[in-house]
Amino acid sequence: MTTKLPPAERAALARAAVDRLGPEVDGVILGWVDNAGVQRVKAVPVDRLAHAAEWGVGAAPCFDAFLVDDAMAPGTGPVGDLRLVPDVSALTALAAQPGWAFAPADRYGQDGVPHPGCQRLFAGRMAAEAARRGLEVRAGIEVEWMLLDGAGAGPAYGMRRLIGLSDYLRELLRALRAQGMAVLQIHPEYAVGQFELSLAPGGPVEAADTALLVRHTVQAVSVRHGLDASFAPAVTAGGVGNGGHLHLSLWRAGHNLGAGGPGRYGLTAEGEAFLAGVLAELPALLALGAPSVASYLRLVPGRWSGPYRCWGRENREAALRLIPGSAPEQANAEVKCFDAAANPYLAIGGVLAAGFAGIDRGLRLPPEVCGDPVDSGYAERLPAELPVATAAFKGSDVLREALGAELHSAVLAVRTAEAERFAGRDPDEVIAATRLRW
Ligand code: GLU
Ligand code: MG
Repeated sequence: MTTKLPPAERAALARAAVDRLGPEVDGVILGWVDNAGVQRVKAVPVDRLAHAAEWGVGAAPCFDAFLVDDAMAPGTGPVGDLRLVPDVSALTALAAQPGWAFAPADRYGQDGVPHPGCQRLFAGRMAAEAARRGLEVRAGIEVEWMLLDGAGAGPAYGMRRLIGLSDYLRELLRALRAQGMAVLQIHPEYAVGQFELSLAPGGPVEAADTALLVRHTVQAVSVRHGLDASFAPAVTAGGVGNGGHLHLSLWRAGHNLGAGGPGRYGLTAEGEAFLAGVLAELPALLALGAPSVASYLRLVPGRWSGPYRCWGRENREAALRLIPGSAPEQANAEVKCFDAAANPYLAIGGVLAAGFAGIDRGLRLPPEVCGDPVDSGYAERLPAELPVATAAFKGSDVLREALGAELHSAVLAVRTAEAERFAGRDPDEVIAATRLRW
């Protein structure tokens, strides 16, 4: 993260980055994600990047109140300004948008003080907290999307689907490689037109940056092929949705806390306490990781979206799927109930905060749920609608303390206003209003 450096140093780094971009790039997009999970942008000509890095680019604070449909939560006005400061260490030339580069931005006040409502700076604080505890976090978010209008029809995981779209998928792989992104896997998913990409893990902020850049790239390649990609949690009422599963492993002194320990499946005591902390806060965390009314159209049993508040080894209906892997370095946990409507910086930062609270309190995991939770007789359903998750979030001291009062209340206002705005609308209306927003 370069945004914390003194302004003159930021400008010098930006000038060097522009030199590396070369003459092909004309415009640089500065992006930040709002509390509704929507990527918002401003752009500058490439020769203004150094100025933007030094002084920031103006953006109204009202974006903290934006809803998914561009309405605003009450209580915001037209006054004030913040500065978008591009993180030039994450500047990337966009292979599928020739002539353009992208840099995630952090938001500061005009006085240069970090904006307390900045979601990416929050994730950065949680990353710093991990480092303070001597922990290394490796995180990755899977990207699922659906092509609309019947594109990509064919059997789930079917070769027929891949053949039909081989040029499209090849261009996607090429674009991601050109952007220096390490794809692990790509495959046709369950629903018509649905695909999935996974990338190598990185630090908390980097993992969120990566997930966003993958989505932009998927969207840009789709546009070039005359296709429309939706990352929305629900694309058809009653059908399988798009997840945004968060994979996470914690390391201390080169050792994975999810392997080689005395606990279940090799969990160390610290690794178990972290996961127990996540499970304890999960209803509240849903307000960060499944933040939309549409999220709850996806989060229902039988769709492998992890709608139960439990954990289980390789259990795809459990919100927390433990993946021991076949070697110690592969062990990780997957928060399966999250989707791509989430602001990924809030989702990752929130999970870290919950896990650290679990470590501090020495929590233990409840018994594992083996098999389908629906048959267990005791697995608890996660909140089935946004207001319930919002109430849990409102009551979460762990998340309020980690996010800070201002960010916590901004998220709360957006969730409350969205729930009210969509109250009484049927699934088709919710989907129509949201499926092309993320
Ligand atoms: N599409 C499913 C979801 O909504 C996930 C399927 C899977 O990858 O297990 O989370
Ligand atoms: Mg999947």
